[in-house]
Amino acid sequence: MPHATTTRHCPGVASFAEPIDPSAPAPPFAPAAAAALAAAGLDLARVGYARQVHGAGAAPVPAGGGFAGRVDVLTTVEPGVPLAIFTADCLAIVLCDADAGALALAHVGWRGTVRGAAQAVVRAAGALGARAARLRVAIAPSIGPCCYEVDEPVTSELARAYPGRWEAWVSPAARAGRVMLDLWAANEALLAEAGVDPARIENPRLCTACHPELFYSYRRGDRGRLATLAALP
Ligand SMILES: [Zn+2]
Repeated sequence: MPHATTTRHCPGVASFAEPIDPSAPAPPFAPAAAAALAAAGLDLARVGYARQVHGAGAAPVPAGGGFAGRVDVLTTVEPGVPLAIFTADCLAIVLCDADAGALALAHVGWRGTVRGAAQAVVRAAGALGARAARLRVAIAPSIGPCCYEVDEPVTSELARAYPGRWEAWVSPAARAGRVMLDLWAANEALLAEAGVDPARIENPRLCTACHPELFYSYRRGDRGRLATLAALP
């Protein structure tokens, strides 16, 4: 399955810092990005995307690609229509069941984790005929437990959503009253609980904040966004 995540050197969305304007025909990819992604089998003329709102809502992209609405989970069964998620520290999660011909992508930060976006993307793929145990999953470069310090407003929401479980996803921080949150561990656990085989989750564990030479990081103050795209062959 063709899939890719841009870096800050692929000038795809370097100038794309604001939420997507739904009236725009498509996200403003630069020509160089279009060429690079076309070489990876991803045709930006047919890209499907959303106005991401840190929720767990899901929608299919229109036939032939285009704007799917204010959601954080995108789906398609149409070969050659790339789905795009834009991030700078949040997780982009790609799920594909090639046998069912089902593709789903999710944008998941701490709010999406609390709201169940990982569970929602497995459900959305299932609604297209995917079997959870058959899904292949990829997690794009995103902020790691090395760099994601959070405090009470975040931990109280996590505790409310996942009582007795969220403690396994945090470790002590240097500063009092703070913890380091492992969104990778949290979402891998939530995906597994939704039926995904952990052995089929590919996570290169590349931290966006640790690699300023490669990635944009919201935490570090970057305004640019990385794009993660995937299409059914
Ligand atoms: Zn890091």
